Amino acid sequence: MNIHEYQGKSILKKFGVVVPEGFVADSPDKAVEMAKVLNQKTATKFWVIKAQVHAGGRGKGGGVKLAKSLDEVHNITKQIIGMRLVTPQTSAKGKLVQRVLVQQDVYYPGASEIQEFYISVLLNRQTGRNMIVYSPQGGMDIEYVAEETPELIFKEEINPAVGILPFQCQKVAYNFGLEGKAFKMMVKFVEALYKAYVGSDASLFEINPVVKTSDDQIMAVDAKVAVDNNALFRHCDIAEMRDLNEEDPIEVEASKFDLNYVKLDGNVGCMVNGAGLAMATMDIIKLSGGEPANFLDVGGSADAKRVEEAFRIILKDPNVEAILVNIFGGIVRCDRVAAGVIEAVKSIDELDIPLIVRLQGTNAEEAKILIDESGMKVQSAIALEDAAKLVTEVLK
Ligand code: ADP
Repeated sequence: MNIHEYQGKSILKKFGVVVPEGFVADSPDKAVEMAKVLNQKTATKFWVIKAQVHAGGRGKGGGVKLAKSLDEVHNITKQIIGMRLVTPQTSAKGKLVQRVLVQQDVYYPGASEIQEFYISVLLNRQTGRNMIVYSPQGGMDIEYVAEETPELIFKEEINPAVGILPFQCQKVAYNFGLEGKAFKMMVKFVEALYKAYVGSDASLFEINPVVKTSDDQIMAVDAKVAVDNNALFRHCDIAEMRDLNEEDPIEVEASKFDLNYVKLDGNVGCMVNGAGLAMATMDIIKLSGGEPANFLDVGGSADAKRVEEAFRIILKDPNVEAILVNIFGGIVRCDRVAAGVIEAVKSIDELDIPLIVRLQGTNAEEAKILIDESGMKVQSAIALEDAAKLVTEVLK
């Protein structure tokens, strides 16, 4: 689950990572009120207004702006809230901005002495260990740095048995070329950042830029945070940070029924049990001349209720021109799935597009007979290539 920058920063703060002072606001008046509070709390002369959406590159799209007066705070917030922010990380439609973060400007005093770094913590799936990826080239697209100057990207893997060790934090500060107070502050920063990552069961903490201010403070100016969904049950406070407005409405609906659904742009809806089979089914759809409209894994227990909900979810997508059900009866018997499909189709009046059902595994023959004799306009297959041919035909 992704969370907003302001939420990520509240987690960082809890673990002792220094972040610029800031408040979230959902209207221009509130933003001005918060800017005044910031003025009293910090020595800031100016404020940075930042659109809160689940996407990076906001600065490039006009979603991060410096305000030099309270009037500007008002006007910029008015401009940003309600806009559809298009960034290199959003679709062409962009994302609707509902809130801004009003933050103390950390650059202005002695801007020439400011240094920007990149630090992220994430899981290296190859080695099964957490690692810190860092670069002295902060404030830029890290993908670009990795391509152009790979020697400026450093990695530090953490042994899970002992956790992060002091020398590893020192190595980061050393590779950034820091000295004195800044060196010590960076060591603390890295240690606290790693604790925040582990302590919140995150899968990513990406801070770009990390800033060294003119008075040698080290601060997280941005925060991109993703948390492992499977661990949310032990972080109720983080679970509450979920922003459904940032998610596809059909995906939100699917998650209520524990269906693993991801919307795609194609025309053939598919319903499958098991992620691997779902991937293979999407390949089959492509080879048949179609494009998958979704990824949908109904899981091991493909009973009538789940199958019905899955149909309803697929049909919410207006681009769907045909549906392919591809279920392997391993634990669940194919005839039971077939009965579920028949029941589900009967309860849905609006199913007026071709439906192809391929059931393989335990009692596959019985399942095919059930479907063929159901009187419904459903085409069935046992072999995958037959199902693929049927998809090609119906798309014609
Ligand atoms: P994004 O990556 O989505 O564009 P960032 O948080 O990295 O958003 O902000 C873009 C740029 O705006 C930063 O690289 C920095 O130069 C500037 N900026 C962001 N927050 C502040 C702040 N509190 N004070 C001063 N400048 C900031």
